[in-house]
Parts: sequence; structure tokens; C-alpha cells
Amino acid sequence: MKRLSVLGSTGSIGTQTLEVVRAYPEDFKVVVLAAGSNVDKMEEQVREFHPKLVCMWSEKAAADLKNRIADTGISVVPGMDGLLQAATFEQADVVLTAVVGMIGIQPTIAAIEAGKEIALANKETLVTAGHIIMPLAAAKKVPILPVDSEHSAIFQSLQGSKREEIKKILLTASGGPFRGKTRKDLEHMTVQDALNHPNWSMGRKITIDSASLVNKGLEVMEAKWLFGVERKDIEVVVHPQSILHSAVMYRDGAVIGQMGVPDMKLPIQYALFYPDRNPMEGNDMDLFQVGSMTFEKPDIQTFRGLQLAYDALDAGGSMPTVFNAANEMAVAMFLDQQIRFLQIPEIIEASMEQHKVIENPDLGKILETEQATYDFIKGKTW
Ligand code: NDP
Ligand code: MG
Repeated sequence: MKRLSVLGSTGSIGTQTLEVVRAYPEDFKVVVLAAGSNVDKMEEQVREFHPKLVCMWSEKAAADLKNRIADTGISVVPGMDGLLQAATFEQADVVLTAVVGMIGIQPTIAAIEAGKEIALANKETLVTAGHIIMPLAAAKKVPILPVDSEHSAIFQSLQGSKREEIKKILLTASGGPFRGKTRKDLEHMTVQDALNHPNWSMGRKITIDSASLVNKGLEVMEAKWLFGVERKDIEVVVHPQSILHSAVMYRDGAVIGQMGVPDMKLPIQYALFYPDRNPMEGNDMDLFQVGSMTFEKPDIQTFRGLQLAYDALDAGGSMPTVFNAANEMAVAMFLDQQIRFLQIPEIIEASMEQHKVIENPDLGKILETEQATYDFIKGKTW
């Protein structure tokens, strides 16, 4: 029986994690749930899973939830302090981190320091603090198990191999809802258009990131840290059917990949049960139904987000933090209809241009860089 702390339990990955728990009640026990402000959903989850500790980021939501679940006697804690308690809760063995955005960094570091196994969905954490997280996890002998579908596929394809046998990583991308569109087409795309992902149903932020290809840029950085490879050894391959979830090419030219129906419960379950595999209801793939799979090069002229991610990776140090923070703010502004779709890469680029790289930033410098990026964006009219 593994005891889980689920950070971001009310979101897309969080709720699917709880579906896995529901399917395997003998194998998992939820001891902590944490989320931002969705009190209705959290109350439902608390009544079903009976955790020992609950965190709501918002003070107001925490107070509201506390009243609503007063009959249960379960503690509710707010804010970053609450999130850190959730990440380090004594009785948890595994912390599944599925909060959205850079808010995930500090709880992840705290969880590793407390010796928890990490199932990592929150990619922004590795993008901005991979140079802190990976050595810390190695020092603490804590596994970081990828939940992001591509990274799970790569991880699965690496089982039983030796580091020196790897030639390159083939990171697949669906291309999102705007694949094949020109810059002119993109000028008029609305929030609704961008939220309309062809293959995956995910949270709003990552869905916009998929439309802009920023998500793939973040995933290249995530892969660099998770698998210790360089950017030149990672090739992004557009594969619109989302059946091959990524692959590894070995030095003899063999390509080993993981295929399956697009369902996040598989990578979640693989991370939670690793190294075992267990049955998953309704997840069999019918190759006859799939029929054909196609592959193309990404259009990085039209989708500037991916090129900017490469530039941020090449610049290194604090630049990926600027890339990520600028994107987080730009996506929030786009969702709020304050800017147009093509202004997302424009804001990222302007933020990167005005930043002077800090080499090997510690946590304090990463958070300062995040804030400075927000201040820069807020100080201009877009
Ligand atoms: P959602 O927006 O669906 O969910 C985000 C979760 O984080 C919610 O539970 C939300 O709570 C919580 N949250 C937000 N802010 C805070 C905060 N300040 N403190 C505590 N909790 C907070 O996102 P997704 O599930 O789609 O994505 C989560 C992460 O996983 C992202 O980093 C994403 O890139 C990554 N990912 C997601 C995939 C997917 O299929 N969805 C695939 C691969 C990676 P509330 O609802 O209460 O506000
Ligand atoms: Mg992914």
C-alpha cells in the first residue's frame, strides 16, 4: 500500500490520479490533497478519500472548506506554508505534483528533502529549477517518475538500456489545434479556438501551451533534465494522431517507443506502480482502428514558441525561468482576452531580450527572476 499526497488534486491530472486510486483501492491510500481554490470539488474529494490533511492555497477557500468539513475533523491549511506541509507530510510515501505553474518548485524541493518519491506532472518545476531538483533527488536517492505522457513514454522506452547506447530522443507532438495554420490564420484565433485540442482534454494553461507549441518547448527542457541529454539529442516530431507518445533511438538505429491510446491515466498509473504494470480497463489499442500514423517536422517559423524555448535552453541559467514566467503571464492575459494569441510569443521574446542571464541561479534568484519578469510585462502596454 502506497500512501499518496496529491498536489493539484482538483485539476485534470489530479482528478485522473484519483481515478487510478479508485481503481486500485488496495494499492493506494490518499493521505493529503492540495489545490488552489476549487472548494466544491475539494469537498467532494475529501468526503470520498478521507485524507488526513488538506491544503487550499487561497486563504478564503481554506476557511470556507474548514467550515464545510468541520464534521470530519480533518485539518485544512492555506498558502505556501500549507503546500509545504502537504508536500512533506510524514505519512506520505509518494508526492504526485500536478499543480500548474512555477508554484510547484518549492513543494517539490521540500518533498525531495523529506525523502518522498516524486511523481512529477508539473513540468514548470524542472524547466526552471532542473539544475537544483535533479542533483538533490540523486543525493537523497529519491526517484523522479515522469507523469507527462511523452516523458513517461521515453522513460518506458529506456527500461533495460545503458546510457551510452542512446543516440537521440524522439519527442512527439500532436501539433495542437493550429497545426498547418499560417501566421496570418493565427492572428485571428480566439481563446475558444485555442482551447479546442484535437486529442487531449487537459487544464486550460497547458492546452494553450499546446496550441502555441510552448508546451513542446517546455517538454524539451523537461527531457533534458529528466534524462540528462543535450538539446541537439532531442528531436521534436509532429505526430498528429498522438498514438506514439515518444521514442528513443539507440546507437544501432533501433527506435523503441511507447504507443497507446491517448489517456493520461496510463502514464499516471505507470509512475505510481513503477516498475510494475497493472491492468487498465478500456485502454487496449486497436491498431486496425488507428490505421495509419504520420510524422512531420514542426513549423518553428510559424510557432515561435518552440524556437524561443530552444533559445532559452541555449542561453541557460535563469533564461528558462524568464521563458516560463513570461509564458505563464502571457497565457493568463490571453485567457483573460487582454492580448491576442500571437502576442504570447511576442511577450516571451521581449522578456527574454531584456534579461541578463544569471548562471546557475539558486531558488531565491529563480523566484526573483520570475517576479522581475512579471514586473517587466506589467510595466508595458501590450
Ligand atoms: P489544471 O489547471 O487542470 O489543474 C491545476 C491544479 O493545480 C488544480 O488542482 C488547481 O487547484 C491547482 N492549483 C493551481 N494553483 C495552485 C496553487 N497556488 N496552490 C495549490 N494548488 C494550485 O492543470 P493540469 O492538471 O492540466 O496540469 C497540471 C500540471 O501538469 C501542469 O504543470 C501541466 O503542464 C502538467 N501536465 C498536464 C497534463 C494534462 O494532461 N493535463 C499532461 C502533462 C503535464 P484549483 O482547481 O482549486 O484552482
Ligand atoms: Mg506532454
